[in-house]
Amino acid sequence: MPQEQTLILFKPDAIQRRLIGALLSRIENKGYKIAGLKMLQVTPELARKHYEEHVEKPFYPHLESFITSAPVVALVVEGPDAISVMRTMMGSTNGREANPGTIRGDYGTSRQMNLIHGSDGPEAAKREIPIYFQDNELCEYSLSLAASLMAAD
Ligand code: UDP
Repeated sequence: MPQEQTLILFKPDAIQRRLIGALLSRIENKGYKIAGLKMLQVTPELARKHYEEHVEKPFYPHLESFITSAPVVALVVEGPDAISVMRTMMGSTNGREANPGTIRGDYGTSRQMNLIHGSDGPEAAKREIPIYFQDNELCEYSLSLAASLMAAD
């Protein structure tokens, strides 16, 4: 089982709506490890770097305004298949189409203000994590229950 790391952001709407704890609980309850955690203000420059594939798209100016409108919480989440499992937990991009039980499906109705970002594959995770975290900001440690909770397939 691959142990993966993925970049997760709680977006400005999650901070404005005081959902940091609720979203973090979902990740911890799932059994994943938090390898990095910080709150920061995204600048337009950082937004362009993060969303480089979207910069030329018509929705980008609105996305940049939104993502810079309040702080975000950035996390590196680690565990078995963390990238794809977090994407499943997040749900579809548009909150109106996301399944109930997913974060976007349970908390939102917007395509833009959809509460959470998660890397969409290994290449994206590899590119995105260093945008938000220096190596020395990530912690290596063992979860005491990790073996029993997560190692069994
Ligand atoms: N987005 C938007 N309008 C669109 C598509 C996307 O505002 O038509 C925003 C939305 O916040 C989304 C982000 O741009 O989460 C990145 O888009 P992507 O298609 O990568 O969706 P995600 O991977 O976040 O589900």
